Amino acid sequence: MVSDMNEHSDKLWHGVAIITGASSGMGEAIAKKLAPHAKGLVIGARRIDKIKSLASTLGDHVLPIACDVQKKDDVEHLVQIAIETFGQVDAMINNAGIAPMASMTRCRVEDWENTIDTNLKGVLYGIAAVLPQMLEQKTGRIISISSEAGRRVFPGAAVYCATKHGVRVISEGLQMDLSARSLKDGNDIKVTTISPGYVTTDLPESVTFEPAKIGFKKNMHTVDGPMSSGDIAECVWYVLNTPSHVEIGELTVRPVKQNM
Ligand code: NDP
Repeated sequence: MVSDMNEHSDKLWHGVAIITGASSGMGEAIAKKLAPHAKGLVIGARRIDKIKSLASTLGDHVLPIACDVQKKDDVEHLVQIAIETFGQVDAMINNAGIAPMASMTRCRVEDWENTIDTNLKGVLYGIAAVLPQMLEQKTGRIISISSEAGRRVFPGAAVYCATKHGVRVISEGLQMDLSARSLKDGNDIKVTTISPGYVTTDLPESVTFEPAKIGFKKNMHTVDGPMSSGDIAECVWYVLNTPSHVEIGELTVRPVKQNM
């Protein structure tokens, strides 16, 4: 996939990236994929021990920074560190997310708030933190992880689905606003949503309602030929390496045998 695209690219991506939610799953895999090619990487998550240990395996150009995406200042801090250390930000990967699923009828308001604050506001904070720098540079890539749940609604997952629909819609709107501006100032900031189906990760651990957690794990693990976090890291790599005149708005990826 990448090699085909790169027949048309000048060179492989070699920039500075920020990744939220890099302590496990897709974020960790994206960090591992980008690190050998990156000038610099800033990786954020709440579990600082995990990202410190990951960074120690990836090189001195990978900086682990404690970050709760529910906190605007934390997200801004990731960008400050990237600019202070590397002088630029070429890619923002808004990956951090949780999925505390349960039937709406249970009115788990705290779960709803956490889901919105992490999955939706966290992405908005990422966009707001990085955009001024990218507008000044007139270049950059903003990649946000939505989900198949950002295109459909699944029972017991209404609020999660709403946040993932929101991520997709916000990215599309941002892309439109940037394209309009690009006609005037020539910026080549690209915006992409990646919408995966089931990927085997620790995501079910973020479910606080035990029966829903069991169901989520069961669904995730009954996929015949599941996707791995590495598959999504390859998608990010593909997006970063598209020719300069090509913008991938959305990439939907799912296991071949996923039947829901
Ligand atoms: P994981 O649970 O393995 O990873 C989630 C990551 O998000 C962790 O690194 C976690 O780090 C981080 N995170 C959660 N809350 C916060 C927070 N408040 N601040 C900062 N970081 C946070 O799951 P995945 O890798 O599967 O999830 C990555 C993304 O992919 C999510 O947005 C998820 O919704 C999406 N997705 C997942 C699918 C799947 O089937 N697995 C399918 C489609 C989309 P820490 O706890 O250390 O802060």
